[in-house]
Formats: sequence, C-alpha cells, structure tokens
Amino acid sequence: MQPLAPGSTIGILGGGQLGRMLAQAAARLGFDVAILEREADSPAARVAAQLIEGAYDDEAALVRLAKAADVVTYEFENVPAGSVDILTDHGVDVAPGALALAVAQDRVAEKTFLNARGAPTVAFAEAATPREAVDAVTRIGAPALMKTRREGYDGKGQKWVEHAADAAAVFEALGGVPVIVEAPADFVRELSVIAARGRDGAIAVYPLGENHHEGGILRRTVAPAQVTPALADQAERIARQVLDGLDYVGVIGIELFELPDGRLLVNEIAPRVHNTGHWTQDGCEVDQFEQHIRAVAGWPLGPTRATARVEMLNLLGEDADAWAKLAAEPETRVHLYGKRDAKPGRKMGHVNRVRAL
Ligand code: AMP
Repeated sequence: MQPLAPGSTIGILGGGQLGRMLAQAAARLGFDVAILEREADSPAARVAAQLIEGAYDDEAALVRLAKAADVVTYEFENVPAGSVDILTDHGVDVAPGALALAVAQDRVAEKTFLNARGAPTVAFAEAATPREAVDAVTRIGAPALMKTRREGYDGKGQKWVEHAADAAAVFEALGGVPVIVEAPADFVRELSVIAARGRDGAIAVYPLGENHHEGGILRRTVAPAQVTPALADQAERIARQVLDGLDYVGVIGIELFELPDGRLLVNEIAPRVHNTGHWTQDGCEVDQFEQHIRAVAGWPLGPTRATARVEMLNLLGEDADAWAKLAAEPETRVHLYGKRDAKPGRKMGHVNRVRAL
C-alpha cells in the first residue's frame, strides 16, 4: 500500500477515549477522521471531522464508513467479524486485520495462538457445560480462575473457583457460556509491552510499563518499568512473535505477568492502543496513538525510546473533578475525555506525572 497522503480519511470503529486520542493524533498528521459510533455525543466524535451514527454491525452505516474512509481501524476488540467482511467487501482495508480480532476475541484461541508462537501463558482448559467445567478445574487444579471465553474486560466475566466441586456453580454464575479455566499466575508484577508493526513489517517496541490494578481496573502505570535487560529482551521477543504471527498492522498492547524466577507469561493481548500505553503521550517522542495512525496509514513507524519517566494515573469517576488542582501541578499533564457523566469507576481521563529520566 502506498502511504496515505495527508487529507485522506481514517475511519475508526468506536467513539470512546481511545478513538478520541487516535483522532487527535490523526488530525495532527493532517488526516480527517470518520467515527462510526452508536451514540452521537461520544468523546471521539466530538473531535472528529465526521460521525456516522450506527451500531458496529449496522450494514448501512458500515457501507457509509467504507465509502468515506481510505482505511479503517478500531478502538475496541469486540468488532464483529461480519463487520470487517462488510468493510473489506466494500473495498476498504481494515487494520489490524481479521486474524488479530479473531484471536483477541476468544481467550482459548488467544492462548492457543500464543503458545503455538512460543509465547508462554498459564496452563488452561476450556469448558462449555457444567460437567466440563468441573473436569477442567480438576485437570488444572483448584484454585483456578474461570473466565468467559468472550467479552470480558476490566476483570468482568471472571471468578475464582476455590474447589473443583464449586466449578459447576461458578460456570452458571458466569452465565452458562463457554469459559476458559486458568491456572493461577503466581506473579510478582504485572507489566505490559506496547508495540507496533508497520505495513512493511517493521516493528517498534516501547519500554515496558509496570501496571497496578484495583478492583480489576487499571489504576496506575509506571514507565519505563525498572527491568533487567534480559527481561526487556524477553518482552521484545514475545512482542515480535505475536506481531509477526498475526501479520499485524498497528499498535498492540500485550499484558504480561512477571514470575518470581524472571520468566514472563502473557496474560492477554489487545489489538489496539492500550490504557497502559497512555504514558507514551508525555514520555516518548512518538506516542502510541500517532504510532498506530502511522502504521495503518502506511507511514514509517516513529521512535519509541523514552524521553521521560512517567507515572500515569487513571481518573475514575469523580477523580476527574480534581482537574483544577491537577492542572496546577507543574509536572502533571492532564488528559480529559470530555465524558459528561462521571459514573463510579468510569474512565474520565488520566494524568501523566512526568519526571526526568
Ligand atoms: P484479564 O481480564 O484477563 O486481563 O484479567 C484481569 C486481572 O485479573 C489481571 O490484570 C490480573 O491481575 C488478574 N488475573 C488474570 N488472569 C490471572 C491468572 N491466571 N492468575 C492470576 N491473576 C490473574
């Protein structure tokens, strides 16, 4: 693909904060953005050139997006496969591609793919009935973590099973849908690696972030994480295996568990820009949003080295009410998403506290 010229239009499925920050980065490079989103007043649509109102599986809306856009990307991984087919049938390329979506949407397909590429994960088993759930927990050993195969996020759709005898009840409590049963990761830290692959197969990897969750939601990322060169190499190797294995175009977020012996396991991959990569906005020359736009537009990837040490804090719910105080801190860069309704736990913005390296 020839690099997309400034003035071209980039389509984005999804109107949340990730779409908003992608649109802002795209605008800086001279692109127009068309957002496809059900809600008219979304964070992304308010900074984009064009809004196409519709659900992600609304065929007429998808056809309009295919006509408006020179390339289409997305800000969330649950884009239906059928929607990608409609877009490609109408002549527009979707990046990252269908394989990345299929792998990321199903925790069993994801771990199977990762292990086949030599990227280690916890031991796992699948189950689709209460009986299979009991068998799976018996095989993996209790305690084990049961997660829905599809559509879990921020710790939702998962429960610990303390004893194999409880497995059928937990299976029903998760909705009686197909699940994965995972062995516990005995991790000392949660890390993530944000990386990108261009249309030419070039790969760029950011320094690792160290992540802290509360109640299943990311609270804080510290980056660059303090890691040994061997650990950084391991993470980079995993990122390259995943990106090449998916013939990937764009930015990916890979969540990792660091074990006491220094090995890394992959928890999950997100085929999009990632909350744990927000620190790059104020800690790197080219941040993850611009990098993603560069990749999908067929531009050269930008540098990923850190220029500062950053503590990224998510502003959840009413945290964002402190914007005036935060804005008065000289080391703090404030990023707000323009969401009207500060429900508890909702991601309203983030700050990057920046220090010299
Ligand atoms: P996930 O939705 O898979 O990203 O999981 C959310 C959080 O649950 C992770 O960030 C971990 O803190 C924890 N978690 C997920 N899987 C495991 C596991 N197999 N063992 C221990 N903790 C886990």
